[in-house]
Amino acid sequence: MNDRKAQISSNLAAVRERIVRALATCGRTVDEVELIAVTKTFPVSDVEILYELGLRNFGENRDQEGSQKSPLLPSDAIWHFQGQIQSNKLKSIAEWADVIHSIDEIRHARKLNELVNGPKSIFIQVSLDENPAENRGGVAPTLLKEFLQELEELENLDPIGLMAVAPIDQEPDLAFSRLAEIHKIAKEVDPRISKISAGMSNDFEAAILNGATHIRIGSQILGVR
Ligand SMILES: *Cc1c(COP(=O)(O)O)cnc(C)c1O
Repeated sequence: MNDRKAQISSNLAAVRERIVRALATCGRTVDEVELIAVTKTFPVSDVEILYELGLRNFGENRDQEGSQKSPLLPSDAIWHFQGQIQSNKLKSIAEWADVIHSIDEIRHARKLNELVNGPKSIFIQVSLDENPAENRGGVAPTLLKEFLQELEELENLDPIGLMAVAPIDQEPDLAFSRLAEIHKIAKEVDPRISKISAGMSNDFEAAILNGATHIRIGSQILGVR
């Protein structure tokens, strides 16, 4: 094993151990959480190492990076896009990303629905910001019901869950318990919304405790960017 692989392998083992511990705390099992390795800014050689170590879910924030890296990995790799969406990049994103986590504008959803032939898995990003002026993306919870109802008409999209990022000025546990409440309501509007994509390197335990099904971890596995 070369140095980089040994390093990543040890980081990954530590993260997995923390995931297992967090799951045990709340009586959930390992198969209830999908670990997405966020590989943005890291070279494809790192993604290949993660693949060799058994990971299959990879997350990217930029279309250009994702479209370059994804063809270099075996076809059973699952690619997630979690970055801010630009309308003119949607076509390309839809080609390489199996799952899009950051849909927060209905016009993007409509455009994506036109571009794909078949059920494309999406998460709806919701904003947990208390002050709307600080909103760094995400549908405001008060507008979510209407958003979900509009999505129901888009037959090529499969809305599988909600995604959120904990605001920097909030206790992650509080932010994610709010997300869990919002998720409960969303599921009543559309039962397909069964997943929660939440938790990053610094707050994934809090996310797991609050029901996250997909956690997105970069720096804790690959190092500082
Ligand atoms: C970068 C990023 C992550 C991973 O962040 P780390 O702190 O490196 O784990 C997860 N989710 C989103 C939306 C990101 O932009």
